[in-house]
Amino acid sequence: MTSFTGKILCVDLSARSFETKAVPPEVYEAVLAGKGLEAWYLYTHIPAGADPLGPENILAFAAGALCGTGAFLTGRWTVACKSPLTGGWGDANCGGLFAPAIKQCGYDAIFISGVSETPVYLFCDGRTVEIRDAENYWGLDATEAERALHADLDGVCRKKPCVAVIGPSGEKLSLISGICNEGGRIAARSGVGAVMGSKKLKAVVLAGARPFPCHDAEAVKALSKELGRKLLKMTLPTGLGVFIGAGGAMLGHLPYVPLDGSMTAYMFREWGTQANTSLAITSGDGPIRNWGGTPRDVRRMADVYNPEHINKIETAKYHCYSCPLGCGGKLNIRGRKYVEYDETHKPEYETIEAFGPLLMNWSLDSIYQLNEYLNRAGLDTISAGNTVAWAIECFEHGILTKEQTDGLELHWGDTEAILTLVRKMVAREGFGDAIADGVKRASEKFGGKEYAMHIGGQEPGMHDARNDPQLGVHFVAEPAPGKHTVGMGIEYGAMSLCDICSWAPPATMHGKDKDLEDSERMAYITKANACYTMLVDGAGGCYYGQMMGVHMWKLVDYLNAAEGWDYDGDHYMEIGERIQTLRQLFNVRQGVDPASFKLPKRMLGEPPLPSGPLKGVTLSQHREQVSSHWRAFGWDDQTGVPLPETVRRLGIDKLTEVEI
Ligand code: SF4
Repeated sequence: MTSFTGKILCVDLSARSFETKAVPPEVYEAVLAGKGLEAWYLYTHIPAGADPLGPENILAFAAGALCGTGAFLTGRWTVACKSPLTGGWGDANCGGLFAPAIKQCGYDAIFISGVSETPVYLFCDGRTVEIRDAENYWGLDATEAERALHADLDGVCRKKPCVAVIGPSGEKLSLISGICNEGGRIAARSGVGAVMGSKKLKAVVLAGARPFPCHDAEAVKALSKELGRKLLKMTLPTGLGVFIGAGGAMLGHLPYVPLDGSMTAYMFREWGTQANTSLAITSGDGPIRNWGGTPRDVRRMADVYNPEHINKIETAKYHCYSCPLGCGGKLNIRGRKYVEYDETHKPEYETIEAFGPLLMNWSLDSIYQLNEYLNRAGLDTISAGNTVAWAIECFEHGILTKEQTDGLELHWGDTEAILTLVRKMVAREGFGDAIADGVKRASEKFGGKEYAMHIGGQEPGMHDARNDPQLGVHFVAEPAPGKHTVGMGIEYGAMSLCDICSWAPPATMHGKDKDLEDSERMAYITKANACYTMLVDGAGGCYYGQMMGVHMWKLVDYLNAAEGWDYDGDHYMEIGERIQTLRQLFNVRQGVDPASFKLPKRMLGEPPLPSGPLKGVTLSQHREQVSSHWRAFGWDDQTGVPLPETVRRLGIDKLTEVEI
């Protein structure tokens, strides 16, 4: 026995039909489950040129291989499809309880094609599959719809169902919309919410209770126990967050970032991802004023966004399935300025950065409001923040006028105007409607392309390539461009990949200046990062488990125990390489030119910034670094197209002939 259920559910909403299909073991051996299974299925089943918002596009929900085995930090689910934002591969990832719910229905993944004529939701409890009417839920925000579904199904299901649902932004086909679960968590990227909305699919509701398969559950448990013991040892006095801003300022001037895996785990457990905000503001990692530079009073801004302020109003920790860290939390935000809700999930670093420093907005209270409001609407805060930043800069430069913005005056740090504009984007009203499909399309309509921060159509995550040139390579070499969760130079040292992979370069501390140069070493670091991330996504792992390093979160040992295999790290890294190459081939088949993904000039440091931690930085070697990365993967170093010999070496030619 392995950890795979061996089955997938395929639903056709046009025909209102469904079918359970068996997946041959060689597919799991080649790509695991999660994103790997999605990459294999979508590559072989979405025809070239399919309309992302049409019936041929397939929306996939998948749990990873290790989900349900008892392995820690393996409760992530991945949604994938052809992205309407980029025209190529699209995916997004989220935590909570939805991943195990897929497996408890008896499936590794659910693939949904077709388009319904009326709003529906998909229901599955492991015994029946039904496409049900969703007229009563259409128009509700994601949290309201989830609550209404829970209320209506109370007592009807054997257990409380898990719900993945779109909000108004997905219904209105905003190309920067995502899919939500558990009252405010969101798989936000790639426009996956618009694809779900185009199918008139309001929700996927899962209430199965089947057991989780696993080869050796005791061995998996022993590994988790060992990790749990290590995590318990990591204690420091509380309140240390006040020093984070100063620490970031220091890091900004150091040539190296001495990041350690156990420290990463400590930070996420203590504060969550928002631990990074003050650090990022002062170190040069976090973008400020539409990626345009560092204000003189940057330390004051770091104080506003210090994680201790947020911890003070935390009422409960929030853990995804099978996670001892619990980087999430619930906040009491009742009565705060701008706020219309009582409670919100702790805002992630990305949201704070995108609606705080990126817009020169100094109101943490407004971030709480925007976090809750946008999660309920189902709008990607990274993309929305970048789009608002573009609008403000265009207005400041006279490219946009009050006549175009429905009378709104848009200036840096104008919290009221930011809140109003976001409401208009969600409602798709007037100027808000015109920019609700992200910054690329907005700049094509109104101009100001020089201020439009996107890569291949997708807005970048809140980390600056000028601070981390390897991240810049991932931003453009990743088949879903602009994603910040593929790899960074500053994390490579903490992961120690060279200890499981013979070709991964030694894990020295990240050298910022050195890595500005193109080199074979750097190419194999970015390749190792990408392969390991794909492996983690196939296993259903959390990026923060990955950042702890291979000696704490023992993914190779977990997989061997769960599947009854005896493979080494090189074998597993090749699985990651296969998944990444399949995703790149998906783009090529869909007519997306990998070489068309480019960093915005501003992020390349053209011209360089005159002050701050990124002063004088220009990524002059960036294009060569991307070519070297492609070469390390066995892809054409000029076009990014995987070479025929690479496709054969990875067995993708045979894998894509497997029919089910
Ligand atoms: S570290 Fe955070 S995001 Fe990752 S699994 Fe745990 S709670 Fe979820």
